[in-house]
Amino acid sequence: MKKILMSACFLGQKVRYDGQDSLLEHPLIQQWKEEGHIVPFCPEVAGGLPTPRHPAEITTRHPVMVVNLIGEDVTPQFLQGAELAVEKAKEVGACCALLKSRSPSCGNRETYNGNFDGTLVPGSGVTAAELQRHGIPVFNERELDQLVEFMTMQEADVA
Ligand code: SF4
Repeated sequence: MKKILMSACFLGQKVRYDGQDSLLEHPLIQQWKEEGHIVPFCPEVAGGLPTPRHPAEITTRHPVMVVNLIGEDVTPQFLQGAELAVEKAKEVGACCALLKSRSPSCGNRETYNGNFDGTLVPGSGVTAAELQRHGIPVFNERELDQLVEFMTMQEADVA
């Protein structure tokens, strides 16, 4: 059975920086949960950051640097979380990931610009980028149609 690595906050786990979740209520998610497809993971918590925590943004990309709102360098925790996400994905044989958009860890297309002024810039979060680098496609919550298409193709390959 194909597994999907999923942002734990989508599943109601209160692991966001503000101690809240980002519950994704969708019949498909419920179905995948019941069928055992879902593997929840929060890279920031796995990387050793507490909840709640100060929000953080990517300030530079090459090399990557992540700084929180009070100026602390949290890059090591973000990198550790990304590494553990890849390990987890490989361990469970995940075919892909469904991750929260715009997060400095999980965002797959854009993140905030590092100035904490609400401006988005193109580019992936640290974990999303690492998963993609290891050949694991990452979708966000607005790309469920593409994810379904991808999963259908995966199942067809198995059949
Ligand atoms: Fe959710 Fe990812 Fe942020 Fe964890 S790091 S709270 S899984 S968006």
